[in-house]
Amino acid sequence: MFLKNKTYNIYPLNVGSCNGCDIELGALFSSKYKLEKWGLEINENPKKADLIIITGPLTIKSKNFFQKALKSSNNLKGVIALGSCATSCNLFWDNYPVYGPPDKFTKINLYVLGCPPKPEAILEGINQILGLKIKKPKVVIPYGFRGRLKYDSKKCIGCLTCIRFCPAGTIIAKRTEKGLEMEYFYGKCTFCGMCAQHCPTGAITLTSDYKMIEKDKKKFVTKGKVKK
Ligand code: SF4
Ligand code: SF4
Ligand code: SF4
Repeated sequence: MFLKNKTYNIYPLNVGSCNGCDIELGALFSSKYKLEKWGLEINENPKKADLIIITGPLTIKSKNFFQKALKSSNNLKGVIALGSCATSCNLFWDNYPVYGPPDKFTKINLYVLGCPPKPEAILEGINQILGLKIKKPKVVIPYGFRGRLKYDSKKCIGCLTCIRFCPAGTIIAKRTEKGLEMEYFYGKCTFCGMCAQHCPTGAITLTSDYKMIEKDKKKFVTKGKVKK
């Protein structure tokens, strides 16, 4: 039974992904989620795309392909940046073959964060862009899942161990006359959990919140001040 008469074509645009995000996108199109009932289809022809989902940090080699695909879409309703790489290059931010992030060259309508994001988060993003109300099955969060970062400045002693262990350059500490300003831009996070694992006080934790979806990636931030 089809709930919609219309077909929505989703074009996955991999511009240097490790394939982790693409696998989760593929999982979303498995029989578990029954997206075909809503007319949602993966279509490898960018000209027909209603929605483009970008994965990867945008490498130099994929630049031309990336620009051509975006220009050829005639019916586009939106572009999603999927995962930390497509949002902010993730831990590849200073790698020589990386040209991105993609939003340097095109408008992104929605950032769906994670490394990789769960299929249910991707579905939420698709719902938002296409104006659909597809329900997700019950979400199971596996033991040890690492989602949205939470920082508690009251517990922080300003030792900066988290910065030393972070591979993604996510954490900034600024010393001021009043104390220490800590900022975690987890839009660039690889969700490795090293900061939380090595924090001596539990001031930084990775929660089970997997729904990290924003129109503005600057909102993927947690911060606080450690007073002198
Ligand atoms: S965000 Fe993580 S899973 Fe996705 S492409 Fe980048 S490294 Fe791979
Ligand atoms: S989980 Fe922590 S250490 Fe790992 S990339 Fe994110 S901020 Fe850095
Ligand atoms: S969050 Fe933890 S590791 Fe980072 S500066 Fe504070 S106490 Fe140290």
